[in-house]
Amino acid sequence: MDKKIGLFWLRDDFRLIKNNGLIEATRNHDQVVVFYLFKGEEFKKQEAQKWWLSKSLLNFKKKLKNLNINLEIVETNSFKNFFDKLIKKGDFTIYWNKVYEPDYLKFDKYLSNNFKNKKIDYKIFKGNVLNEIEEIKKNDGTPFKVFTPFWRSAEKYFVEKIPSKEKIIKKCKKKITYFKNSIEPEKILPAKKWFKNFEEIWSPDEDSALKELDIFIKDRISNYSDGRNFPNINGTSKLSPFIKFGQIHVETIWSECIKKKPKTIGTSKFLAEIGWREFNHSLINHFPHMLKNNYSQKFNNFPWEKNFKFLSVWKKGMTGYPIVDAGMRELYSTGWMHNRVRMIVGSFLVKHLLIDWKDGEKYFRNCLLDYSPANNVAGWQWVAGCGADAAPYFRIFNPILQGEKFDKEGEYVKKWVPELKDLAKKFIHKPWEANDEKFKLGRDYPYPIVKHDEARVKALNAFKKI
Ligand SMILES: Cc1cc2nc3c(=O)[nH]c(=O)nc-3n(C[C@H](O)[C@H](O)[C@H](O)COP(=O)(O)OP(=O)(O)OC[C@H]3O[C@@H](n4cnc5c(N)ncnc54)[C@H](O)[C@@H]3O)c2cc1C
Repeated sequence: MDKKIGLFWLRDDFRLIKNNGLIEATRNHDQVVVFYLFKGEEFKKQEAQKWWLSKSLLNFKKKLKNLNINLEIVETNSFKNFFDKLIKKGDFTIYWNKVYEPDYLKFDKYLSNNFKNKKIDYKIFKGNVLNEIEEIKKNDGTPFKVFTPFWRSAEKYFVEKIPSKEKIIKKCKKKITYFKNSIEPEKILPAKKWFKNFEEIWSPDEDSALKELDIFIKDRISNYSDGRNFPNINGTSKLSPFIKFGQIHVETIWSECIKKKPKTIGTSKFLAEIGWREFNHSLINHFPHMLKNNYSQKFNNFPWEKNFKFLSVWKKGMTGYPIVDAGMRELYSTGWMHNRVRMIVGSFLVKHLLIDWKDGEKYFRNCLLDYSPANNVAGWQWVAGCGADAAPYFRIFNPILQGEKFDKEGEYVKKWVPELKDLAKKFIHKPWEANDEKFKLGRDYPYPIVKHDEARVKALNAFKKI
């Protein structure tokens, strides 16, 4: 046993199962303190996630208490300043799991050097991915830029890996406090109470993540390939915020899914979506410029338009296109939006309204509980056509046909845009054609802000310029 205190730096790892760093700390030390560094500045643009984070901290704190481990939240505006001070104490061994974002990985190097110089023991562990980023490369050593060969290689690599022996967490001897000015989780909650709805929908903790996975595998995974396309049904796992905050490890998802025999197309499709997440993390680490700019540089000259009015009605779900408005209202109300609808609203913003994908990305970042830099920038650039292996820009989603195909009965629209609930089914995705006495366009629901055919031609002309 190491006589020093074991510190575990908690980032996106709110779990006990497969939390490599935390497990190792409890096995090496009688006294362990878990600390979370809260950078308010960073979360200013991630309001919805403040709620998830605050609840996750509260729930994890309770769980750790049973193991005699204290979870302490320290507010800081600079990780560097915090660690420069901590290093001076030097009376600890420190553990953490990787977060696969370029800035975090760069900081790991900085910290490693400093700890080495000061002769402080530290250990860095694999984080929430199936494979380490550098493990998956093409035969010529360069990174994959196309999903299908990436996933073929990544899946094979993961399956053939010899699994390391599963270790479990140990109860500590004594609960201690290490940091002086720790804050309570409630302090992190967003100032505005708009998150009240979230409380009825989500339970941000590990047990709920495992339960949701179990229900999904039992009831929905075999039909996932089809079910995942329809926003009016519960066809996907809704695990994304849990995965983002590490309430569940993707290896756990993998092993639970493959236990179900025989392996269905649904299971393969679902695991391939986990694969897209791996692909996106690989992309942002190999091509970090895409976190702030277009992956494909030719889009740097795209003639985006600045139109605050259009951007504002898009955010409010008042564009006059029911499927778009339903999606934007679902997002604001629940902190989550169905993937099909994310593609539709994204396409509408960048193609019908010619607004830069970065404005959409920013709004999603603020409202999504599952916001992750890799998935959000890659998702947006996929939609905009400027990403790796992206949808071509000239393929423009028709929001009316998308609605009629994927929300045939209009149930999704009626749920989120209740002012359309009494319209006849055939008008639900094109209310401007309704001749219903009780319904008046412009009074009960907005006119479409742009005409689909005109917007399409304009978008294609803009695309020709690059
Ligand atoms: C414009 C846009 C922005 C997006 N922003 C995010 C984001 O910030 N965070 C995020 O986690 N996902 C994002 N996605 C991907 C996807 O929409 C969500 O992961 C998915 O809707 C989450 O719901 P689910 O957990 O029920 O997914 P399921 O269908 O059950 O999939 C299981 C898991 O696989 C991963 N996954 C699924 N689809 C994708 C995908 N297309 N790309 C990458 N990973 C995927 C997620 O971790 C998801 O939880 C975005 C997609 C688009 C088009």
